[in-house]
Amino acid sequence: MSQIPLVDLKAQYLSIKPEIDAAIQRVLDSTAFIHGPEVTAFEEEFARYLGVRAAVGVASGTAALHLALLAFDIGPGDEVITTPHTFYATAEAIAQAGATPVFVDIQADTCNLDPTRIEAAITPRTRAIIPVHLYGQAADMDEILAIARRHGLRVIEDAAQAHGAHYRGRPCGALADAACFSFYPSKNLGCYGDGGMVTSDDEAFIARVRRLRDHGRVGKYEHVELGWGYRLDALQAAILRAKLPHLETWVAQRRAAAQRYNELFAGSEVVTPAEREYNRHAYYSYVIRWAGDGSACRDDLVAHLTRSGIGVVIHYPIPMHLQPVYRSMGLGRGTFPVAETVADQVLSLPLYSEITPEQQARVVEAVFAFTRRSQLA
Ligand SMILES: *Cc1c(COP(=O)(O)O)cnc(C)c1O
Repeated sequence: MSQIPLVDLKAQYLSIKPEIDAAIQRVLDSTAFIHGPEVTAFEEEFARYLGVRAAVGVASGTAALHLALLAFDIGPGDEVITTPHTFYATAEAIAQAGATPVFVDIQADTCNLDPTRIEAAITPRTRAIIPVHLYGQAADMDEILAIARRHGLRVIEDAAQAHGAHYRGRPCGALADAACFSFYPSKNLGCYGDGGMVTSDDEAFIARVRRLRDHGRVGKYEHVELGWGYRLDALQAAILRAKLPHLETWVAQRRAAAQRYNELFAGSEVVTPAEREYNRHAYYSYVIRWAGDGSACRDDLVAHLTRSGIGVVIHYPIPMHLQPVYRSMGLGRGTFPVAETVADQVLSLPLYSEITPEQQARVVEAVFAFTRRSQLA
């Protein structure tokens, strides 16, 4: 039986092949590989899509987070509050900037940063909060922004999984002081290599990010501060320009596929994703929870699905405070119980805009084959 992959980048490419191929050819013909009109045009088009004043293309989502922190002058001695349940790059970028990540536990249902626990973590050193719109669903931004306002903190959205997501009718990436996107190939809007973007309404901040991404340069050979080689290249920008007009359709297809999974799982013991009624979840990942233990634990379900030819992964198995790299923080098991439980229960099922109802039915059948057996055991 054929495999059902977690994501199918080939299906998407084939659906828009002439547009992608033409975009790549355009860059090859121009030989403008670094900076140039493709990068500028994509920055403008992405800013317009979100309704923000400005956007800067950068080398990756990680670079976007690193530069956003630097451009807000956040560094050694500063603390930045974020979630322990995220891709490692969120916490890594805080440390790369020289600051200290401070973790706050998550909401059990959305798996996003829990605003009710943030204030207890604020100290005189706290400078910013980085909520992650995990799996493609916005964090509770009104609450987070209100806390930030009360304490004079910056809020930087980690929107790496939230292209096309909305919070109370407004796009993720346009909700706070700044936002960071990744265009890693599997993201809702992905390029064919590495890429990222910083967005903001603060044009002075954006100008600073623009300088920092390019060796702190003002003229061709004049460098006014320490910067990085963190540019978005023109080939990636051209590919992203070809894809951006399709993003709304792709998000609608992802949402329809998520809805279909919800219906197929209805009435079962599988916990389906919680979507707040005021959010438009972009379903970067369709993440179910399975609370079984012993020989019916989540990892056994993952093994069963993998054997059945179904591409599943765990987003993410080890919370940040339990990562070996942060052992020196001395935060053991039990520090963030919600994040720890979630990490033991989540698993991401195949989801992409081209997934068919037949493929989804096969995925759900394979899950039920395991859960039924575990009930009998
Ligand atoms: C993908 C991702 C990043 C990092 O993006 P890269 O482009 O891979 O550097 C950061 N944060 C989150 C939440 C992500 O999913």
